[in-house]
Amino acid sequence: MTHEPKDADARRAIEPVICYPTETLPVPDMPLYAGARAGAVLVDEVLVSPRDAGAIEVPAGHFLRMSAVDGPQVGDLNLFARDNLLERFYSGKTRALHGTHITTGDRMWSSFPYLRPMATVFEDTLGWYGIDGFGGSVHDVIGTRCDPYTGNLLSGGDYHHCCHSNLTRALADHTGMTLREAEPHVHDVMNLFMCTGFTRDTGQYFMKASPVRVGDYLELFAEIDLLAVLSACPGGDCAAEHTSDVAACYPLRMQVFAPLAGRLDGWAQPQVNAYDRTHGR
Ligand SMILES: [Zn+2]
Repeated sequence: MTHEPKDADARRAIEPVICYPTETLPVPDMPLYAGARAGAVLVDEVLVSPRDAGAIEVPAGHFLRMSAVDGPQVGDLNLFARDNLLERFYSGKTRALHGTHITTGDRMWSSFPYLRPMATVFEDTLGWYGIDGFGGSVHDVIGTRCDPYTGNLLSGGDYHHCCHSNLTRALADHTGMTLREAEPHVHDVMNLFMCTGFTRDTGQYFMKASPVRVGDYLELFAEIDLLAVLSACPGGDCAAEHTSDVAACYPLRMQVFAPLAGRLDGWAQPQVNAYDRTHGR
């Protein structure tokens, strides 16, 4: 035990400040996106099998809808710039900017040195959930992705259908890379439909049964050309456990919708970050 100073309560009582006030962030033009979504046409579709992953390309200005189809199921999403795998989703900075969970109007930001919006959440049928009494919410950008290494560390054995491995196989299949080449590109995910938070007493990461039901979806507007890779987590709705074959698992559907011609007039893809990258030299 450490020694508590006399002014401990006063120090704890200091009000927090938001690390990254977002008032100066560029605001997505949601009415423009809504105009583009109206009448948009389904152009591509992938059904992701349970305990497996699938990949789909989403051209800039198109919409990616990810849906629960047969039962409550959580997904682990990786996003890449389609033509440059080094530009990938940056969950930590997205969390710093938008909070631990994302919903309509929030953006998925890319890694350094790019740091630009890759996608904007256009619609979220679980937006009603908010933050529950345990501090839990959905679509988390906290968790990393279930993986066979942590599983091995905690309980031994080799489990091959964690999201990390599913994403690795799907990325390799889509790009023609070997598993060894593809694996380093797999990164921390956006946990689609996953309901998570931190316990108030110990600060531990928790999960609970996802409120997602058949027909629920999260839809993204692609700000740049994207390669999206989605794993149907072996945890199913993540009510109890992952990294095993115990939970009931269901497929997830990815659909790409193209806007009608002219509907995005006046819109431009975000440029990569303007920092000059001289780092003081
Ligand atoms: Zn998983």
